[in-house]
Amino acid sequence: MAGTALRVIPLGGLGEIGRNMMLLEYGDDIIVVDVGLMFPEEEMLGVDLVIPDFTYLREHAHKLRGVFLTHGHEDHVGALPYFFREFKCPVYSSKLTDGLIRVKLNEHRQLAQAELHVVKPGESVQAGVFEVEFFTVAHSIPDACGLIIKTPLGPIVHTGDFKLDHTPVMDQHTDLIRLAQVGAEGCLLLLR
Ligand SMILES: [Zn+2]
Repeated sequence: MAGTALRVIPLGGLGEIGRNMMLLEYGDDIIVVDVGLMFPEEEMLGVDLVIPDFTYLREHAHKLRGVFLTHGHEDHVGALPYFFREFKCPVYSSKLTDGLIRVKLNEHRQLAQAELHVVKPGESVQAGVFEVEFFTVAHSIPDACGLIIKTPLGPIVHTGDFKLDHTPVMDQHTDLIRLAQVGAEGCLLLLR
């Protein structure tokens, strides 16, 4: 795999609020972080929802190894029903996020076909060449996570939405100790 490029491809959420969706591609493997939607702005008359542009993924769908969700807010999970109309792959998320997307997929009659996995903070999942570890972050919704994504070129940290709150509700702190460890080992890229 010498000389293989690692591609970081945002399909939404960069320079705009909402519809967060990021692809990581290395060789024959692609993983997806978040599949969010955006609520329309004032001038988008007649538009109900805005979803990420799936074009690139459509063209490389055979490489898709999994979707990883950072937390249950609509701008991170809301476009999943539209994603599942076209793509099939396992989805990994924390317990509350899993519960929220189950309700959503059930409404869209997609729950029976979906392959959903709950991942606890500190646990890792292998998806193609990528190994994805969940870690706890403080956010305005419980069970929010960031991801440490081990790639052949080094680890990438994707924080998701987070805050540094020393007195968080339900005692859910951003795991600064784990982040410091990754930083000390050498982080290839930090995404937030
Ligand atoms: Zn959020």
